[in-house]
Order: sequence, then C-alpha cells, then structure tokens
Amino acid sequence: MTLLNAKPDENKPLCDETPTSDNESPVIPFGVITIGGIAWRIVIDPCLDSEGLNGDISEDKALIRIMPRDPSAMTITLVHEILHAINWVYCNSDIPHKVFNALSHGLIQSAKQLMPGCIIEWPDKIQKS
Ligand SMILES: [Zn+2]
Repeated sequence: MTLLNAKPDENKPLCDETPTSDNESPVIPFGVITIGGIAWRIVIDPCLDSEGLNGDISEDKALIRIMPRDPSAMTITLVHEILHAINWVYCNSDIPHKVFNALSHGLIQSAKQLMPGCIIEWPDKIQKS
C-alpha cells in the first residue's frame, strides 16, 4: 500500500538539515513522545513526498517524520510510526509490518471511543497535498 517501511538513505541529509533557497527549513517541529524511555522527536516533513513516503522513522536518530496531508491521514501515519517505535523498543521488531496499518486504524477507533473528542491538533500552517 505505501512505502512506509522504506529506510531513508543514511548518507542523504534529512530534509531539516537541508536549508531551502530562502534558508528556511520546510520541516515543522511537532513534538516529542516518549516510548520505552526514548524521547522520539516528531517533525512534519514535506520532503517525504519526494521520497514517496507518508511517514518514516529513524531508530538511530529517535526521529519520526510525517508528511503533511489530510489531518486524519497524518494521524494514522503517526500511529503507524509509533507502532514501529513500540515494535523496535519492546518487541525486538518481531511484529510483522503488514499488521501496522490495521492496528493503527483499530487503535484510533478505540481511542476515539474511550476518549471522546480526542484529536491531534496538527499545526494550521502545514501545506496539505
Ligand atoms: Zn511502516
């Protein structure tokens, strides 16, 4: 379905390390989530589009990148990337990747019922594609 499991080229600089022509990074810091004692930095990174990705995780850098899109799609992608982190931290990466999208949808459905009104407030300034 997606290329979410593709690993970034380690030799290629991350988008947030590559200033644009007006010397302003297109990457928007979003927050930090701690999973397994590791503080994972979350950024919104439009450069993922050129990589054909909706999201990406770097365990080495404890970095989760999310492509700016429709907010509900971004939420699904974020939960998907969080599942990668959980799998890496707690499960020795034994959970098969093919179940991540189903788990993401099920977890979001459950969260909405358990915590009515809970939403992720994505920044207004993101450019959705
Ligand atoms: Zn994935």
